Amino acid sequence: MKKPSIKFPARLLRPIATFLRREEKRLEKRKKDLEKEDPFSDPIRLTDNAASDADAAEQFGHARIEAMKRQIEKRQIDIRKALGRIKIGHYGTCEKCGKMIDTDRLMVKPEATLCIDCERKKGK
Ligand SMILES: [Zn+2]
Repeated sequence: MKKPSIKFPARLLRPIATFLRREEKRLEKRKKDLEKEDPFSDPIRLTDNAASDADAAEQFGHARIEAMKRQIEKRQIDIRKALGRIKIGHYGTCEKCGKMIDTDRLMVKPEATLCIDCERKKGK
């Protein structure tokens, strides 16, 4: 039995790959900017043993930045995966069930490597 292979034509994949690469760079820069904003990244602060209650805001700021960084990293992983799937010619198919990912979904989230059903099953 022949496997149905609905592939994205190269002329469509090229701009997607370009977009994803640009997006990855943008995220990398964003991550570096966040690191600069992180109060804990200040080397002087680290050696300072000032009263701990004054650090509450910094603790919070640090936690917030860490959470944002984690989100960026998650997206970067998805982008790298999507780029890898472009390379092997599997872009646009779900990595779990192999079904075509809805093009509407790919428009909104071009780095998606799971179809909407598998994404839902995965849970958050
Ligand atoms: Zn799926």
